[in-house]
Amino acid sequence: MVGSHFRDLLIRLGLPRERLEVLEGKGGIEENEFEGIRYVRFRDSAGGFRRGTVVFGDGTVVPGFPHIKRIVQLGNGVKRIFKNKPFYVEEKVDGYNVRVVKVEDKILALTRGGFVCPFTTERITDFIDEDFFEDHPGLILVGEMAGPESPYLVEGPPYVKEDIQFFLFDVWERERGKSLPVEERYKLAEEYEIPQVERFGLFDRTRTDELMELIEKLSEEGREGVVMKTPDMKRIAKYVTPHANINDIKIGSRIFFDLPHGYFMGRISRVAFYLAERHVKGEEFEEYAKSLGEALLKPLVESIVEVSQGHEIEETFTVRVRNISTAHKMVAHFERMGLRIRIEDIEDLKNGYWRITFKRVYPDATREIKELWNGLAFVD
Ligand code: ATP
Repeated sequence: MVGSHFRDLLIRLGLPRERLEVLEGKGGIEENEFEGIRYVRFRDSAGGFRRGTVVFGDGTVVPGFPHIKRIVQLGNGVKRIFKNKPFYVEEKVDGYNVRVVKVEDKILALTRGGFVCPFTTERITDFIDEDFFEDHPGLILVGEMAGPESPYLVEGPPYVKEDIQFFLFDVWERERGKSLPVEERYKLAEEYEIPQVERFGLFDRTRTDELMELIEKLSEEGREGVVMKTPDMKRIAKYVTPHANINDIKIGSRIFFDLPHGYFMGRISRVAFYLAERHVKGEEFEEYAKSLGEALLKPLVESIVEVSQGHEIEETFTVRVRNISTAHKMVAHFERMGLRIRIEDIEDLKNGYWRITFKRVYPDATREIKELWNGLAFVD
């Protein structure tokens, strides 16, 4: 349900009344509040408002972050998407997506799903100078928060050794809802010293061999992949390294029963396409086969053993916050997202930050394994 202020606002912004009513009826839109700032978030797409779109009470609209098309055959994918146009190649950083915007004099960080994230909002000014929004109130910064101490992911990129960092990869104009051209973004980031994703330069279809070499190097270094973008940001595609696919399987296998089948299917097939495109054979093939098999099986077997011994399946996260109250706000935020989280430990790092350790429990996956272990008979 949304209040009458938002209802009128959304209609003024062009959402047809009937669409709004249907959306409300199925819970596709939700009104929330963060420290006195009210907003609605779109849980579903409707009438030009993408899923994840956030509309604030003052009329500020932050569009949902669009899906990026994936290619799994690098050479052919590049030819098909970019034809003979050049494209910039950037690192695909493995973290969580945030959109950063200034609303009612406050810099806010939004999650992909359209929540104001209390943790990211508190920490974002460690990475982005407030001057940026003084000078450019009409811009939205989009980037990845990544590191080993993240509230949403158990791992981060290998080069972030502690805590978390922000990496800019897109800048949107609020009014037009469009991305700035790549070079303009690079310049702005340099001017305001906003940390950005690593840039590998301008490529085109004649240099896919070099691009494949880059992928191999990134994979060896345990990095996630690349995102390719034409200078005008009109065509964008992503390609993920075999290391990242196998590592995701390893992380997912621990909570096997909590994930859709497609999670594993997609990643296995991407590794297969990589091996086929590179004609990987012999010993190298054997190594991939072994690491994929282990990634799929080992954590799942370990989870089964843990549950059979009476434990629950859980994951541990740590984050660094300036105020303990932020940790409590995060717990409330997780609860709203329907997750089961509890704070395990609070440690004073004596440098202005507290380190908070959370545990996320997976009751459904635990129950499923428990039942099966206890001999449940079922029809496939
Ligand atoms: P989808 O985009 O289809 O929703 P997804 O949410 O599973 O897929 P990924 O497959 O991880 O996301 O890829 C897209 C995400 O990659 C983006 O949402 C963005 O947060 C992240 N990302 C990291 N680095 C970059 C970059 N350099 N350019 C664009 N996106 C990047």
